[in-house]
Amino acid sequence: MPTFRALMLESDDGRTVKARIDNFEETELRENNVVVDISHSTINYKDGMVVKGIGRLVRNYPHVPGIDFAGVVRTSEDDRYRTGDPVVLTGWRVGEAHWGGLSTVASVDADWLVPMPTGLSPARAMAVGTAGLTSMLAVLALELAQIDRSKPVLVTGAGGGVGGVAVQLLAAAGYEVAASTGRAELAEYLKDLGATEIVDRSELEEAPTRPLSGERWGGCVDAVGGTTLANVLTEMGYGTSIAACGLAGGSGLVTTVLPFLLRGVNILGIDSVMCPTETRVAAWTRLVELLDFDQLDSMSSMISLDEVPAAAEAILAGQIRGRTVVDVHA
Ligand code: NDP
Repeated sequence: MPTFRALMLESDDGRTVKARIDNFEETELRENNVVVDISHSTINYKDGMVVKGIGRLVRNYPHVPGIDFAGVVRTSEDDRYRTGDPVVLTGWRVGEAHWGGLSTVASVDADWLVPMPTGLSPARAMAVGTAGLTSMLAVLALELAQIDRSKPVLVTGAGGGVGGVAVQLLAAAGYEVAASTGRAELAEYLKDLGATEIVDRSELEEAPTRPLSGERWGGCVDAVGGTTLANVLTEMGYGTSIAACGLAGGSGLVTTVLPFLLRGVNILGIDSVMCPTETRVAAWTRLVELLDFDQLDSMSSMISLDEVPAAAEAILAGQIRGRTVVDVHA
């Protein structure tokens, strides 16, 4: 009987989750119209939550986590894909509602796949991954709403995956970039990625005391949420926008309407999970144009499937730098 190797999560109550890395019979794979042989996946913040059973993102166990993967089509019942086609998958609740990429094989719906962008290896596609795609969607949304080039664009949670790629993309697109991090030791790394200013996370962590402060930022990619987002709102330039991507610092938002009424500030919601395929393909194309692959390599590390449980704890503790790619065969 053919088998696949995967990180399998089991839970009796949906709260306490046990992770097991093992071989499983392929008959256990959920039925979909494309079977992909996976080579690489990644660890994202959401995977950290799923592996640790936080936020009840998974309703049905046993479950294979992994919100993105790259691989090659083994069999396809859909005309868009043939055996041997390299593909990449992000989002569509894969790794949450459907079995995901921390596995050597996945059975998925053809609608969820994107052909591997020309010029990308599977490992580099995963160094970009959901985080990089989200950063690109954020930058595209900011550009559509217009960025005020007379001021720096702020990236929060810059030490993480979404933030690090956003710093690179904004710098490559010619914007002045300020990077906010809680880890002073990452200053040189962030400057190498293209940041010209480092903002200490502590500046943004206390609840704002005034509804408006000086107009400091020409745009913002926010991966943190919470009081960080509340603070950034008070410092946005007139008519500028914040691309709200994440909640690493909390999901609550206590603010006033004044940044919206008196400065015309916009909050643009970024959702990489359900965004339409045409938008995804456009974002992947621009990513390949803008990204410096050596720089991407410098912010990525490679781990094996066995190292994923420890990496899941580290990402939730905010200890991971940049992107972590998983070689599922290592
Ligand atoms: P990472 O863990 O790689 O990065 C998050 C960063 O946020 C950390 O590196 C840290 O940066 C900062 N951070 C962590 N904890 C806190 C805290 N308590 N207060 C303030 N800052 C904190 O995660 P990702 O970059 O992969 O994801 C970032 C966020 O974006 C997550 O909430 C994730 O769920 C979300 N996300 C959303 C997507 C979407 O479609 N909207 C898609 C992908 C991710 P530093 O050390 O530099 O301060």
